[in-house]
Amino acid sequence: MAVAAETQSEEKGSSEVSAAEKRRWTLNDFDIGKPLGRGKFGHVYLAREKKSNHIVALKVLFKSQLKQSQVEHQLRREVEIQSHLRHPNILRLYGYFYDQTRVYLILEYAAKGELYKELQKCKYFSEKRAATYISSLARALIYCHGKHVIHRDIKPENLLIGAQGELKIADFGWSVHTFNRRRTMCGTLDYLPPEMVESVEHDSSVDIWSLGVLCYEFLYGVPPFEAREHSDTYRRIIKVDLRFPPKPIVSSSAKDLISQMLVKDSSQRLPLHKLLEHPWIVQNADLSGIFRG
Ligand code: AMP
Repeated sequence: MAVAAETQSEEKGSSEVSAAEKRRWTLNDFDIGKPLGRGKFGHVYLAREKKSNHIVALKVLFKSQLKQSQVEHQLRREVEIQSHLRHPNILRLYGYFYDQTRVYLILEYAAKGELYKELQKCKYFSEKRAATYISSLARALIYCHGKHVIHRDIKPENLLIGAQGELKIADFGWSVHTFNRRRTMCGTLDYLPPEMVESVEHDSSVDIWSLGVLCYEFLYGVPPFEAREHSDTYRRIIKVDLRFPPKPIVSSSAKDLISQMLVKDSSQRLPLHKLLEHPWIVQNADLSGIFRG
């Protein structure tokens, strides 16, 4: 889960009852299996729903820690948004329940784990693999934006890999459901666009910027505006100090796409439907979204 608290109140009217609230689950409905990982607020376990035998990931969050970090509002929003999204490249949130001390999220199980680890292992991805992932994420974000959901925190740590090798956007902790332009500062520094660094209004084109940063990191193994000091990263983002190192060798077509996404004026960023038509995507991406390495 993403962390820091956010103060604005917006999004949907509270009268809208989420699908997640329709069924009352309890811990007794699940057989708990091996731990899958540990997050800031709790643990994630492999689990099986007893009646259907459906395998899920059960995320267990401690209420005390959520309260202490003042992220209850953020979690509520995350659940509300994620439970309504249905896309092959977005991790499903099937439901939630709670007891006195904990909140449990019933999540789709991403069998191949974290993309972040895969990128660390490979150092950087081939152009075919990067383009396949980027086009699948662009389709998922087009779907989100069509529902007026901005993710705002696209980065390798928030992506999981499904059983077939397809990417799943997994963390909606910073997402918003909005019809308005917004001013909130959120997300992780390296992936923040200039308009969020400078706290001016932003809209769904923040996700195009982050996808451009991600594309760069897939191909080079490091994010484009990385610097030793936070202040230098800020400076480089605001200037759009984009440089392409000579190694690893990356095609000019990939660099062209990245340059069209990392544009300071958010209205001039390559729209996501145009990204899908870019020659680099057309020539390299597997439309199934599955990387067959
Ligand atoms: P999080 O609290 O979301 O950061 O999750 C902690 C760790 O648990 C992640 O880094 C993953 O390794 C693992 N994990 C979380 N959700 C899932 C999932 N749906 N499927 C498989 N592994 C997961």
